[in-house]
Amino acid sequence: MSHEPDLAAFRTELRRFIREQLPPDIKATVRAGRQVSLAQFLRWHALLAAQGWLVPHWPREHGGQGWSVAQRLVFDEETCTADCPELNSITFDMIGPTLIRYGSRAQQARHLPPIAAGTQWWCQGYSEPDAGSDLASLRARARRQGGHYVVTGSKIWTSYAQYADWMFCLVRTDGEVKPQEGISFLLIDMRSPGIAVRPIVGIHGWSVFNEVFFDAVQVPVENLVGAENQGWSIAKSLLEFERLKLARIGENKRRAARAREIGWREIENGEPLMRRPWFRRRYADLQMRLIALEANSARFIERSRTGQPIGAEVSMLKLRGSQLIQAWEDLAVDALGPASLPYSGAALVGDSDLPTPDLAPTASSRRFLSRGFTIAGGSSEIQHNILAKQVLGL
Ligand SMILES: Cc1cc2nc3c(=O)[nH]c(=O)nc-3n(C[C@H](O)[C@H](O)[C@H](O)COP(=O)(O)OP(=O)(O)OC[C@H]3O[C@@H](n4cnc5c(N)ncnc54)[C@H](O)[C@@H]3O)c2cc1C
Repeated sequence: MSHEPDLAAFRTELRRFIREQLPPDIKATVRAGRQVSLAQFLRWHALLAAQGWLVPHWPREHGGQGWSVAQRLVFDEETCTADCPELNSITFDMIGPTLIRYGSRAQQARHLPPIAAGTQWWCQGYSEPDAGSDLASLRARARRQGGHYVVTGSKIWTSYAQYADWMFCLVRTDGEVKPQEGISFLLIDMRSPGIAVRPIVGIHGWSVFNEVFFDAVQVPVENLVGAENQGWSIAKSLLEFERLKLARIGENKRRAARAREIGWREIENGEPLMRRPWFRRRYADLQMRLIALEANSARFIERSRTGQPIGAEVSMLKLRGSQLIQAWEDLAVDALGPASLPYSGAALVGDSDLPTPDLAPTASSRRFLSRGFTIAGGSSEIQHNILAKQVLGL
């Protein structure tokens, strides 16, 4: 059981840091909902790392601060509502803690210091064209040849592969056994010969996703994490590391603030939308859902703090948190009306020279972008299945 530090003082310290350190161009990019460039991310990483706040949830011996779950959630909330970039959880919440738990000493020494310094970016190579929700059917193949695995196949929807230095990847090392028992967890240098990254531009105009192709890529056997064919259990436990962030309270509050801003600025029939019944009703409904989500999330935080099992019902947080994000974006687009329709690709890139747009030109993009929240990390249907089977016993 951990003792909570004074969260109010902690919040004040965070606010001061953000006010003094967050570069204005990065704040403007995030506020408008434009895509943060790699250069902007790296600048923000360096500022956080200098403060010791890039991987504060890691244990101290690996460069962390040993923050509690509650501190992490306050950090997420404050950084989101103050328009800081959302940190890449694949790097900081997934592979970092995975290497701390399962990595060899050599893997830890090679990767943890640059991750903690914010200079090594990772992507996650799980999904394939025919393996998404049914991940165990993945087919990218790794054959052992001397001191290497030779990897052939492809991955899809790989977020930010174009920024990534490394990928953690699930590969099939045995095709003769039950699907889950023939999967291994490999660390792959994205600069290896034989890798091709093909961007997929989303309906939102951002280039987040990629296809990644492996043509007989040689991966040294030292880059295997855990034992051969044990990758499935590592892949599953990796998801645990961020379960308590699934409600995305900070991301929801960021959107609530945008909706409020639009509500007071947009005029309909001579009065701000905030005074119009249709907008007030929807805004109030979403705020209540947010309060309920936060209260629900607090139950799980308390369980974690007191060392109790989190339980499968934590899927509720993912389900409701992602649906609520979409509802905020729908409200923003409905409120802005035709002004939210046009957008240009250039206006969506964080470090373009365009003047900071107001919220309207990127509203449709943000709304399209939000569709992914109910798919990534286990779709809503999969969360319903988990709740039905494991919680309700249906
Ligand atoms: C924003 C975003 C970022 C992503 N980033 C990454 C990444 O970095 N790396 C990576 O590997 N992958 C990534 N993904 C891919 C993601 O993991 C998959 O999209 C997800 O697992 C769903 O798989 P799929 O797209 O193949 O859909 P499918 O699994 O084919 O599902 C299609 C539809 O069928 C439904 N369905 C499927 N199975 C069931 C079932 N058993 N019961 C009921 N309904 C079902 C689904 O809910 C969905 O509506 C990302 C996806 C998104 C949206």
